[in-house]
Amino acid sequence: MRRTAIVVGAGIAGLATARALSLRKFDVTVIEREYRANGASIRNFGMIWPIGQPAGKLYDRAIRSKMVWKEIADKSGLWYNESGSLHLAYHPDEWQVLQELSAVFKSSGRPVQLLNAPDITSAYKAVNHHNLIGGLFSPAEMVVDPGEAIRNLPQYLSQHLNVKFIWGSLVTRANSNKVSFNNQSLQADLICICSGADFETLYPEHFRQGKLSMSHCATDFTKPEEKIKLTAREAPIKSVAFLPST
Ligand SMILES: Cc1cc2nc3c(=O)[nH]c(=O)nc-3n(C[C@H](O)[C@H](O)[C@H](O)COP(=O)(O)OP(=O)(O)OC[C@H]3O[C@@H](n4cnc5c(N)ncnc54)[C@H](O)[C@@H]3O)c2cc1C
Repeated sequence: MRRTAIVVGAGIAGLATARALSLRKFDVTVIEREYRANGASIRNFGMIWPIGQPAGKLYDRAIRSKMVWKEIADKSGLWYNESGSLHLAYHPDEWQVLQELSAVFKSSGRPVQLLNAPDITSAYKAVNHHNLIGGLFSPAEMVVDPGEAIRNLPQYLSQHLNVKFIWGSLVTRANSNKVSFNNQSLQADLICICSGADFETLYPEHFRQGKLSMSHCATDFTKPEEKIKLTAREAPIKSVAFLPST
């Protein structure tokens, strides 16, 4: 007998979970409070970014995730651009980090390339060339249109994997095999909560006990020039944390 699963939330985490469960032979129902997902996945998301992951399991997963995006986009006509990514250095210490990173990435087989300022100037018109020293190009990254993707993926999942969607329904209670919404309840073998930043609705007690508070992303308040000047030391991410200069 097939097992059943309920996924709460139709943002990118909910849609990815629904796909994964369906491929594992679950009958999946996604319940979303809005009539169209409208959370972080519409506002922020868009870059498929393997370079930000440390070598090993997480990088391999990011590359696999990119392959899944491409497969689904090719089948469903979603727009994507395999643009790669370019990290820029405007200060000697930033350049040093990029050089170290390039050596480490190359030794683990990542196809990155260091570019000097004239190369970048002639190839990328959008780059601020003032005081530019060089950059690190990686071909692994790609972009999708988050609005288009989150709007169209439910249709893809319904058509290809028979995932069911219940829209405009706020889940007000959930336990290990039952959710309540709109004065009704639905049972399943597995309940997956993918409600994004909304901790308060389903788990207010954990939210209070955990002393969590909502905050805004720092980049929202950073001037563009300051973003460009962030060094690995100021903004450590996992993939560069092991370098000598960090
Ligand atoms: C500035 C910024 C830039 C980013 N850029 C990228 C990027 O380029 N690439 C990348 O991969 N990630 C990026 N991220 C991270 C990414 O946006 C999030 O990790 C991702 O969108 C989270 O998806 P989610 O499905 O968990 O949440 P959401 O997209 O918020 O989805 C949660 C859904 O659950 C629904 N929901 C909530 N509670 C209930 C309930 N009780 N009942 C029913 N439905 C409910 C909501 O309506 C919503 O639709 C960025 C983040 C920020 C802040």
